[in-house]
Amino acid sequence: MLTHVVRRSFTSCLIRRSLSTISSQSSSPPSPIRICVVGSGPAGFYLTQNLLKLRQSLPVTIDILEKAPVPFGLVRYGVAPDHPEVKNVIHTFTKIAEHEHVRFIGNIHIGNTVRLQELQQFYHIVILAYGSSVERTLNIPGETTLENVFSAKDFVGWYNGVPENAQLRPKLDGTDCAVIIGMGNVALDCARILLSPVDDLAKTDITDQALDILRQSRIRHVILVGRRGPMQVSFTIKELRELTKLNGVQSMLKKEDFQEIDQNMIDKLERPRKRLTELMLKTVRTNQTKDHAERFWYLKFWRRPRRINGKTMVESVDFEHTEPVDRQQFANENLFVKENGTIETVPCGLVIKSIGYYGVQIDPWLPFDKERGIILNQQNRIDDRPGFYCTGWIGRGARGVIVETTTESHTVAKRIMDDIEQGRLQNLHDAKSGGDGLISLAKSRQVRCISYDDWKKLDAHETKLGLSKGKPREKILNIDKMLELTSNSNS
Ligand code: FAD
Ligand code: NAP
Repeated sequence: MLTHVVRRSFTSCLIRRSLSTISSQSSSPPSPIRICVVGSGPAGFYLTQNLLKLRQSLPVTIDILEKAPVPFGLVRYGVAPDHPEVKNVIHTFTKIAEHEHVRFIGNIHIGNTVRLQELQQFYHIVILAYGSSVERTLNIPGETTLENVFSAKDFVGWYNGVPENAQLRPKLDGTDCAVIIGMGNVALDCARILLSPVDDLAKTDITDQALDILRQSRIRHVILVGRRGPMQVSFTIKELRELTKLNGVQSMLKKEDFQEIDQNMIDKLERPRKRLTELMLKTVRTNQTKDHAERFWYLKFWRRPRRINGKTMVESVDFEHTEPVDRQQFANENLFVKENGTIETVPCGLVIKSIGYYGVQIDPWLPFDKERGIILNQQNRIDDRPGFYCTGWIGRGARGVIVETTTESHTVAKRIMDDIEQGRLQNLHDAKSGGDGLISLAKSRQVRCISYDDWKKLDAHETKLGLSKGKPREKILNIDKMLELTSNSNS
């Protein structure tokens, strides 16, 4: 046993010594450790930043691979247009992308253009940070057959300019009532976009075609429906406050929905939930009608969606009432509910299902938990695939704000550097061609990759277009047009 331990630490010592030799003593240029990060959202960028911080003198190159021709993931395509301050992280991401050891390679779909295993030809270490791109489904009648029923993913994609959602065209001029199923922050984003004065939205980077449709909107009532109670909502205080403060919009929370909540219950809550509950209670108390209120939003608790009704266009949703399995658990975030057989039909002409996202297995070779929509991993190390790691939503599930991804990325970068330094990775001395090899392979498959400089041409074009309309940017909605603009030398 002792011999075994001594031999392992001796081997690890050798590797450490040879890594430091690579980095400091060799007269020929050192052969770098080639790393690629799949996905250019917050998880991919912050991980890259932390790897650069921790690598010290170790020679590494990091390529950020992205399936879209544009970087930034949900920062570009998810974050609401009226949250420009959140999008400021793009300045940090640009600095990272322009670091001398970093290369952005866009328009390369891993698992499609290039198989995951093929990445091993070019890289020593592969980190998957490709997010959660699929919407959860209700599996109820009417969900996929009726017009004007959308997932929040598609609705958000429509107002945020995702090319595949450009043709969505929700019909907002045929109804005065929208139902949003789910009580998370994405549900609140969708509600805000439907309720905000269009002139305010016109100053954001929301697409012109979304603005055109919102200008015609007759929607005055937005009802958010949750299957559990007021103590289990998953939206957060900042987003709730924004909704309560919208110009010309009245909050319609009902006193009776909150009467089980007493001070004793509130005192026992953790701070974020306590403040959120207090704001809901305050909103109930001050529910005086605003002068000139033209639009209204409602929270309906304890209702599970059962059926979406209509002939061709949605006309109503049937909800079955629920109640806590154990009333003592009323304030518990993990509260279980049961249905009580009472069906209520809520008339509406638009339904947005905002019930969360999950990740997909991009390659059959990848160990994957299909139920949870995450890569199988132990502390970000992918099961049975040495040299492969995951981070962000695809590693932990579709929850958490950007700050949480930032915090996680530091831990993950440290784990990867520890694995390198402790000699846990086998092939670090094999010479690999990195991005050059990958780009050649993509080219042989008729795929033109996009560099960060290419993206900057498109960025400049979008910004210029936006400026002429008093907006920070007008997004290009067509992939061919995007590719054309990235190859244009003076766009
Ligand atoms: P993503 O941001 O989704 O990035 C994944 C990237 O991988 C994408 O660019 C994708 O195109 C790419 N990719 C996918 N598959 C492949 C593939 N096969 N090959 C190559 N590339 C691939 N958080 C906040 O803090 N503030 C907000 O205001 C906010 N608003 C949000 C609004 C919405 C609608 C949503 C859904 C989330 C919001 N969040 C917000 C949460 C935040 O966006 C996430 O925490 C964060 O984006 C997760 O980062 P990620 O890098 O794991 O995933
Ligand atoms: P979420 O916070 O998980 O909310 C999903 C909602 O859908 C919950 O209310 C959930 O209720 C409900 N739901 C799930 N399955 C359901 C079903 N079958 N039937 C009925 N209701 C169902 O997800 P999200 O809103 O998509 O947000 C994802 C993450 O992004 C979150 O962490 C969020 O904070 C973050 N985000 C942040 C911002 C911001 O900071 N401004 C903006 C957008 C998103 P239960 O609780 O009962 O499961």
